[in-house]
Amino acid sequence: MPEAPKQAPKPADDNLHDKNRKALQFIEDVTANADEVQRRVLAEILSRNAHVEYLRRHGLDGQTDRESFKKTLPVITYEDLQPDVTRIANGDKSPILCSHPISEFLTSSGTSGGERKLMPTIEEELNRRSLLYSLLMPVMSQYVPNLEKGKGMYFLFIKSEAKTPGGLVARPVLTSYYKSSHFKERPYDPYTNYTSPNETILCPDSYQSMYSQLLCGLCQHKEVLRVGAVFASGFIRAIRFLENHWALLCHDIRTGSINPEITDPAIREAVMRILKPDPKLADFIEAECGNDSWGGIITRLWPNTKYVDVIVTGTMSQYIPTLDYYSNGLPLVCTMYASSECYFGVNLNPLCKPSEVSYTLIPTMAYFEFLPVHRNNGAANNPISMPKSLNEKEQRDLVDLVDVKLGQEYELVVTTYAGLYRYRVGDVLRVAGFKNKAPQFNFICRKNVVLSIDSDKTDEVELQNAVKNALNHLAPFDAIVAEYTSYADTSTIPGHYVLFWELSLNGSNPIPPSVFEDCCLAVEESLNSVYRQGRVSDRSIGPLEIKIVEPGTFDKLMDCAISYGASINQYKTPRCVKFAPLLEILNSRVVSKYFSPKCPKWVPGHKQWSN
Ligand code: AMP
Repeated sequence: MPEAPKQAPKPADDNLHDKNRKALQFIEDVTANADEVQRRVLAEILSRNAHVEYLRRHGLDGQTDRESFKKTLPVITYEDLQPDVTRIANGDKSPILCSHPISEFLTSSGTSGGERKLMPTIEEELNRRSLLYSLLMPVMSQYVPNLEKGKGMYFLFIKSEAKTPGGLVARPVLTSYYKSSHFKERPYDPYTNYTSPNETILCPDSYQSMYSQLLCGLCQHKEVLRVGAVFASGFIRAIRFLENHWALLCHDIRTGSINPEITDPAIREAVMRILKPDPKLADFIEAECGNDSWGGIITRLWPNTKYVDVIVTGTMSQYIPTLDYYSNGLPLVCTMYASSECYFGVNLNPLCKPSEVSYTLIPTMAYFEFLPVHRNNGAANNPISMPKSLNEKEQRDLVDLVDVKLGQEYELVVTTYAGLYRYRVGDVLRVAGFKNKAPQFNFICRKNVVLSIDSDKTDEVELQNAVKNALNHLAPFDAIVAEYTSYADTSTIPGHYVLFWELSLNGSNPIPPSVFEDCCLAVEESLNSVYRQGRVSDRSIGPLEIKIVEPGTFDKLMDCAISYGASINQYKTPRCVKFAPLLEILNSRVVSKYFSPKCPKWVPGHKQWSN
């Protein structure tokens, strides 16, 4: 008989309970002392970086107090930082922004000049990201008990990475996180117990990754208590993949062998640890997937699922009806708000309705400031608004975390440990309430973004330039685009951009369909690299569509907008349409439609880099 242990170990439940309690206490503490924590964070950032070139250039001279900081440092955008970023990318290792070595660049889905923004980061930021992740399940467990008794089926992916000319890796923040030891070598924790083995997540081939993650999720279907992906678009893509591949997946489950298209040896080995021949399960899945209706497919295939964990705030809200359909109305849970620059906050009321989600910024993550936004003033309404520098008065208007006002909208400005100082993230947030002294924000929008399907963010200037480039194809026919607008069509999976064009024709030669198809492709070629990556590599965006509308359609659009309260004097054609009555007018007057015949060009890394 085995010897009894001398001291009884702490039951696992107690440990978990302890960990949860500590995480919740941490949230209590940092939100109750939000202002002191923020003062300390700023002093820490400024004192450790006192000698970096950027702060000396602006004359901060080692001061670490808020007043000197605000008086001395400008509020900036990425464009202001670009020369410094380029030097770091080219291999300058001197402390330009940060006293700690820059470990890599995180490639944001926000773009500048058509290329992803490069956010310098340092090794220790991984700890801050891990800390934010560690708060999510303790919060969730207050509302949904027993989540530790099963698994999460999360569709997680890595994307390709590139090297800067100076040799630093450049990749998206989640790719960096999944490839880090924080994720790969995480100790067993019931809350990070996923159906997808690491090997399936870490495969750069998106087909093999998706296939194997679904296969493992199906094999463990009874254990699954929650399902999700980072963004709603990614989760819906997984369901669509299942629609297209369930027969193959069932074959694998029936026979206990893996589809030969899955060639990655690490994946095959990891999947074989889970996959066993199970004809009964294969029959069950075949019956469900073969059903004409896919309504509620999530709850049918994974019957113990309690919620869908995906971001549905911001532009992702366009996917809520589709998710509701597939999940039979399960709660859609948005747990966190984060970016390449910094991870910001968590949702403390995760079962609330998507429209009511608010994120509590965690005051230890960075130093936060807020620029009041008045969305009805001229500047914000300007249809083509470039980010402009702030004048002195506007710089003085920035308020601290604890000073924001309920109901007011602000642009988020961060100062990070990795060397961003008073950096405008580009997100507009509205104060929805407070957790102790820390504000909770609704995510309102990303500034200037008109079109988005997945993580792509296309602004009006890019759209305008892209349309202008496409017009060259119409010139030989003496035709111009008199008016245009756009729409993100998410009724297809994947979703795609639609442009509505009203033509003014002076020539008498008919325009062949191939010319409009060339226009579609020309628009796509002109859009930013995140869009093109979505088309080419991730397959998360479908071919762009141009719909030609009858002459006079845009007059009707204006009449309709005015009847709904738009001002006659100030009316400008919206460059993106979301309002259903306006869309109806456009769609009812379509005379022909064309799709991009192939994918635009895309290669990893910036166009200036040789890789
Ligand atoms: P990236 O820099 O590519 O990581 O993208 C970060 C951006 O994604 C943020 O600045 C937001 O615009 C958007 N985002 C991140 N989390 C959320 C969220 N929970 N809700 C809405 N938008 C989000």
